[in-house]
Amino acid sequence: MSKVIAVANQKGGVGKTTTVMNLGAGLAGEEKKVLMIDLDPQASLTLSMGYREPDKLEYSVTDILIREVNDEDIPDELGIIHITEYLDLLPSNIDLSAIEVSMVNAMSRELVLRSYIEIVREKYDFILIDCMPSLGILTVNALACADSVLVPVQAAYLPVKGLQQLIRTIHTVKRRLNSNLEFEGILFTMVDRRTLYAKSIVTNVNEVYGKSIPVFQIEIPISVKASEISMVAKTIYDYDPKGKAANAYTELTREVLRHGC
Ligand code: ADP
Ligand code: MG
Repeated sequence: MSKVIAVANQKGGVGKTTTVMNLGAGLAGEEKKVLMIDLDPQASLTLSMGYREPDKLEYSVTDILIREVNDEDIPDELGIIHITEYLDLLPSNIDLSAIEVSMVNAMSRELVLRSYIEIVREKYDFILIDCMPSLGILTVNALACADSVLVPVQAAYLPVKGLQQLIRTIHTVKRRLNSNLEFEGILFTMVDRRTLYAKSIVTNVNEVYGKSIPVFQIEIPISVKASEISMVAKTIYDYDPKGKAANAYTELTREVLRHGC
């Protein structure tokens, strides 16, 4: 059994990419075979994994989607970068921004990524999709092929309004395209427990959403080391293994494993 988790929030800078990278590495560390898909034309995940010139990569997720749109065969492993024995990356680059336009007229345009996932999912225990900060067609594609959606929320501004819109989209996708879609949970990121503001946001989100959507007990603390990992192209476990962010991501990994497939 494998599980496809879309990491989504239309707000940028909430910790989606950081979470995909460290949850991916965490699961791989538990000897789960993991594929991380960068579905953001900004390619932050690809850059953070050390591919500093994504535009020069021979293949990216865009090539996969174009082949799917054109109903062409996809050679085995096309575009896949092996990071470690257990961790693979399907990178992205700016070409991905053009595909949104070419997908407009594609048949079943919401299900393009799903056809690909159906082919590769048997090779992996977990597939994590790093979504772009919008609720456009690419994010809908991710939600349409996911088993669950993990929603990072930065506990530094009042997120309620944006969350409502996201949750509405998730429900629509579930109703129309993917009845299997569940919530993996809301994950608070960059939490500064010293501030009353962060505490009140956590309380508020728990009150408003906690009954209908699972909220992870574990919170990712704000951490200078965590903010540096994309620059040094290391996971938090390699960069600051004993730090509080590494501990939190280890806990998150355990919780995701407990949820099971
Ligand atoms: P998104 O993918 O949602 O846009 P990122 O994962 O890129 O968000 O994170 C946004 C910014 O916040 C990045 O500069 C990242 O390094 C930083 N960041 C992520 N997690 C933490 C954390 N726990 N503490 C401090 N900074 C963080
Ligand atoms: Mg990102």
